[in-house]
Amino acid sequence: MSENTPPEPTTDIRCPHCKKTFSANLMDGRAERYRGFKCPHCRLFVPAARIKP
Ligand SMILES: [Zn+2]
Repeated sequence: MSENTPPEPTTDIRCPHCKKTFSANLMDGRAERYRGFKCPHCRLFVPAARIKP
């Protein structure tokens, strides 16, 4: 029997720093301004507030 793990909700993000796209889970910080993503390309923090569809 294999465990059926539900897929984690990921978001497609376009990094405002290096302009590359990546998918990541939203980091749930304590404060609103700490909610965001970490770019795997340039390792900079991308605030969730800057990601608007
Ligand atoms: Zn980046």
